[in-house]
Amino acid sequence: MSLAEALEQRIAAEGPISLHDYMAASNAEYYASRDPLGKAGDFTTAPEISQMFGELVGASLADVFARAGRPDHAAYAELGPGRGTLASDVLRLMGGIGFEGDVHFVETSPVLRNAQRERHPDATWHKTTDSLPDVPLLIVANEFFDALPVRQWVGDAERKVAFEGGGFRFSPNGTVTRETCPAAEAIAGRLGGHLARHGGVMLVIDYGYAGGEQGDTLQAVRRHTKVGPLAFPGTSDLTTHVDFAALAAAAKRGGAKVTRVITQGTWLETLGLGPRAVALAGRNPDRADDIAAQRKRLASEEGMGTLFKVMAVHHPDWPAPAGLGA
Ligand code: SAH
Repeated sequence: MSLAEALEQRIAAEGPISLHDYMAASNAEYYASRDPLGKAGDFTTAPEISQMFGELVGASLADVFARAGRPDHAAYAELGPGRGTLASDVLRLMGGIGFEGDVHFVETSPVLRNAQRERHPDATWHKTTDSLPDVPLLIVANEFFDALPVRQWVGDAERKVAFEGGGFRFSPNGTVTRETCPAAEAIAGRLGGHLARHGGVMLVIDYGYAGGEQGDTLQAVRRHTKVGPLAFPGTSDLTTHVDFAALAAAAKRGGAKVTRVITQGTWLETLGLGPRAVALAGRNPDRADDIAAQRKRLASEEGMGTLFKVMAVHHPDWPAPAGLGA
């Protein structure tokens, strides 16, 4: 039975289900059944665009690790590591300054775990952040929080999904006045507590906003094209814009410090995307045009530069990562 049929039966038996439960079921099935990344898939992420992205993330973490005094037992942890591409680029950079810590991946998808295992055979996998080890952690979450299920309200009524006239429909139908992501806040709170107790830092990179209520930000993508969020349960990628202010508040309640939120474009250029692109093109003259195009896609306003934001959460005594401090 397809997920659409299973949801139709569930709604027939129980009545409309919350958008939260619909999104959770759709994304669980979606990520469990495919590798969605890249041209042949449904969407492309920054580390899949260029190695320069992961190298700058790695340079940022290497710098924090060194300035924190190279604590013993510090480990690298990634939330939703996709194909493991980002971890490869980050760990290559960090290896260059002598970081040899363990690697921990929080990943639910068996398909993506297999892809990650090919590149990182010695990693340890976790279903949730709860089992991460009690050591200083250097955590990266790129396009992770946006995949977690949200709740929405139309006035005082929680937005649900009904099955009517042969298709899924929102109920009630009306303007969404509030959207929250309970799982994202819970994870940010728990990791804020972990970092405050054991040391470390987390870089959160995602498309989202840093203040103000946004209402409905739910969207679905399939084969690089936007589709209706209720049109393809389990075979389209459902995401929302991340509420960075809500993540920051949760992490602070856990005892951690949080930095300001800046755009991905400003952050990458501050970390040296320009010189890195020039150096990389110098070593690969036949790829110079591609590398310039990758830089533009990562950092320009027409690309991912403005929509995507970056924020760090860190132990109160650890330094803020470069470019994010006060
Ligand atoms: N960070 C990668 C992949 C982003 S796609 C990149 O930038 O290329 C989202 C990732 O989060 C996938 O690896 C997906 O399987 C994982 N994921 C989605 N929901 C999850 C959940 N609830 N728990 C753990 N991992 C999840």
